[in-house]
Amino acid sequence: MYKTHTCGELRGTHAGQTVTLAGWVHRRRDHGGVVFIDLRDRFGLTQVVINPNLPKETLDLVSNVRSEWVLQITGKVQKRPEGMQNPKMPTGEVELIASDVVTLNTAKALPFMISSDEEVDENMRLKYRYLDLRRERMRRNLELRHAVVLFMRTYLSERGFLEVETPSLFKTTPEGARDYLVPSRVYPGQFYALPQSPQQLKQLLMVGGIERYFQIARCFRDEDQRGDRQPEFTQLDLEMSFVHRDDVLEMVENLFTAMLPTVTPHKKLLSSPWPRFTYDEVITRFGSDKPDLRFGMELNDVSGIFAKSEFVVFRSALERGGMVKCIVAPGCAGYTRKQLDELTVTAKELGAKGLVTLALTPEGLKGSAAKFVGEAELAELVKMTGAKTGDLYLFVADSAKLVHKVLGALRVGFRDTLKLADPNVMAFAWVLDFPMFEWNEENQKWDAAHHMFTMPRLEHLDRFETDPSSILSDAYDMVCNGYEMASGSIRIHRRDIQSKVFTLLGIGEEEAQRKFGHMLEAFEFGAPPHGGMAPGIDRLVMLLADEPNIREVIAFPKNQAARDVMADAPSPAEPKQLKELHIKVSD
Ligand code: ASP
Repeated sequence: MYKTHTCGELRGTHAGQTVTLAGWVHRRRDHGGVVFIDLRDRFGLTQVVINPNLPKETLDLVSNVRSEWVLQITGKVQKRPEGMQNPKMPTGEVELIASDVVTLNTAKALPFMISSDEEVDENMRLKYRYLDLRRERMRRNLELRHAVVLFMRTYLSERGFLEVETPSLFKTTPEGARDYLVPSRVYPGQFYALPQSPQQLKQLLMVGGIERYFQIARCFRDEDQRGDRQPEFTQLDLEMSFVHRDDVLEMVENLFTAMLPTVTPHKKLLSSPWPRFTYDEVITRFGSDKPDLRFGMELNDVSGIFAKSEFVVFRSALERGGMVKCIVAPGCAGYTRKQLDELTVTAKELGAKGLVTLALTPEGLKGSAAKFVGEAELAELVKMTGAKTGDLYLFVADSAKLVHKVLGALRVGFRDTLKLADPNVMAFAWVLDFPMFEWNEENQKWDAAHHMFTMPRLEHLDRFETDPSSILSDAYDMVCNGYEMASGSIRIHRRDIQSKVFTLLGIGEEEAQRKFGHMLEAFEFGAPPHGGMAPGIDRLVMLLADEPNIREVIAFPKNQAARDVMADAPSPAEPKQLKELHIKVSD
């Protein structure tokens, strides 16, 4: 080894020992004669003292040293003089009095400082990710990620789960995104698809008798980028045989509940056991299928109160079969015209025709629609919502779908503006009883709400021909702080049911055979009942690390335009490669 100790290791008890450290020059301070170097490695920082009595070559070398040079320094550990100790540094009690300094490598002037937390343009950080990784923030995040994955591996292994790798070169495994395709050189015009998840493979492992499987699995989905999306991302993929829904939920809930105090002791669960909601309930109460439960501001259905309203906005929505709902923003009665206009713009961007706001002031309701709210209506409104003087009502009157979407989003907006949610609280919950199918307006067809391998409720099987929208599935989501953390389901393990689902989704016999013939056949060889789920690891670590997006917890992410700006990928292929792959590029 180039070093006898790490840069984070030395304490008062090492005083008097001769040691060798190796690492990067974090800071160098020249005090005219004595030079101080903070030497850094992954484990910490140690202050090194270069005294002027060292040989001239050493002093010359040290005078040339710049930030991020790589040095090997031998010397004697000494307690820092009284008053010079730094209690903020784990090694702050000691310093290393150098006797020998070796340059292991030099470094050019850096595009940004490693030793400070200054904000750096993200594309610059990604272009020089290997430098960014030397910074405290990224190191901390990768350490946390490691702790999370290690905990999962150990916990599951101790409970009889086998970690099994599944291929990346496979066949289309739809999860609702586009596939990434890999052309085959050997079979002209044929392609592998990178799996959008190992869904089919883990089900086939169940058919293979593995019974309890997990994998830290890479998933590939070609979809539009957003803050918490990447073309490739990582899931804790799980599957279990001979289980019912609650067995899977319990397993995962126990894993996460046990993990939290180990990896992030400062994060607290909002409630244990985790609350369970039906899909309908979260939509009605929070306007979202991934509710943030750390604060109130629930949606109130005030359609009944305004059933006979003169106010045309409310009346016409109700007459068209819609609804009127409101949320109450605490202490926001004093919002200015400009602030209210901004809220209206947001509501309209989300599809609402408008937003009705009413301030509850000491003098009563204020706002352009106030004159339409009678005394009795106001009393009922206050009773139902629990609003207080100084609060602001926000109403949306429209179809149920739109009302929930708009108020749900405004609710989350207020969370951020009013800082209503404690970042150290993890509000995990289960959402259950999802509809099996969603009507796709654009393509005029049914889509699977979770995925096409999810088991529909057996008691709803006779509704396939009559009323597909009312079929519920055995799918479940794990949500936390406004994010979907995992989806899962009990799966279809019978060929006849899988065929029924394919037919409803518009996948004909021939296409089903071509794409999923292996699944259908496997179900005919004694497939056990099974189910599972797949918590997203990037998103989980992002939340635990209080980071705003998943790029901060991935060592080498793509940027928001799905490019690797460090290696510059994607990039054109060599003509020879294209020829071998039987590919002609058109514009
Ligand atoms: N394959 C699913 C997904 O990626 C998870 C599951 O159903 O286990 O969301």
